[in-house]
Amino acid sequence: VDQKALLESAIRDIPDFPKPGIIFKDITTLLNNAEAFSTLMTHLKTRYESYNLDFVAGIDARGFIFGAALAQMLGVGFVPIRKKGKLPSTTVSEKYSLEYGFDEVEVHMDAFGSDKGAKVLLIDDLIATGGTAKAAASLIEKVGAHCVEACFILGLEFLPGIDSLTELTPVYTVIGV
Ligand code: 5GP
Repeated sequence: VDQKALLESAIRDIPDFPKPGIIFKDITTLLNNAEAFSTLMTHLKTRYESYNLDFVAGIDARGFIFGAALAQMLGVGFVPIRKKGKLPSTTVSEKYSLEYGFDEVEVHMDAFGSDKGAKVLLIDDLIATGGTAKAAASLIEKVGAHCVEACFILGLEFLPGIDSLTELTPVYTVIGV
């Protein structure tokens, strides 16, 4: 079976979640499918093993799943970028706009070590407007590390998020929708 087709068929659409009119891409059916999850992780390992990364940073919460698995496969450390108020030590934070109001992501100030310019791959399950990822990529640079690429399992290509994030960092999406 074609790898992309296998991955696409393992992700399901949930209409009207979390609000009427929104079609939510549900990746839990990819995670509980051993063949699909393994195919995805092998694909990511193959892509990123030549990048000489120092860290993989995952975005709260589904980015943790893919990011932690990939970091372990690549033999590098994993760093969580969390929603405000969850990290216990000294943090740096970045606000981003939502449809109504704003949200905020945080990272530990010392998460990428004391050497400047640590090479970081940013990962999340999906990019929509790009607001979350832009804030996360900015945070990585704010604490003195370098975001070498942002990786998403799914990219919503009918929204300007990917183009907008590309101003900050190269973007790779496994599946475009
Ligand atoms: P953005 O900031 O790009 O508008 O939204 C991306 C963030 O919202 C990501 O952290 C992602 O996990 C979450 N998200 C938004 N829509 C979906 C969706 O349809 N499916 C999944 N799995 N996550 C979504």
